[in-house]
Amino acid sequence: MADRDIFCKIVSKEIPADIVYEDDDLIAFNDIAPKAKIHVVLIPKKHIGPHTTITENEAPIMGKMMVVANKIAAQVGVDKSGYRLVMNSGEDAGMGVDHIHLHILGGNKLGPIA
Ligand SMILES: [Zn+2]
Repeated sequence: MADRDIFCKIVSKEIPADIVYEDDDLIAFNDIAPKAKIHVVLIPKKHIGPHTTITENEAPIMGKMMVVANKIAAQVGVDKSGYRLVMNSGEDAGMGVDHIHLHILGGNKLGPIA
């Protein structure tokens, strides 16, 4: 079932996570396999598939994710030093879980993206 992936189970607290932020719409947790000193994963509580599937209907929640990412960056102390937001979509990009998610990476110098 596409709506019962690991991130849905983190939302329902069936699977524990190191939660760093939570509100009515979004939840964020530390990545279990961090790719930087700070690596937080921010997801909508409502299941949304890959970025390729989003429509105008998802515009408000996508906008909120960007605003909350900024708050989380300040909370974890990378707002001044800088951070990278990454959203993968699909197999070629390495999207590991089919529930839209925004990676917040920072805390050390990051390599060039391209
Ligand atoms: Zn899901």
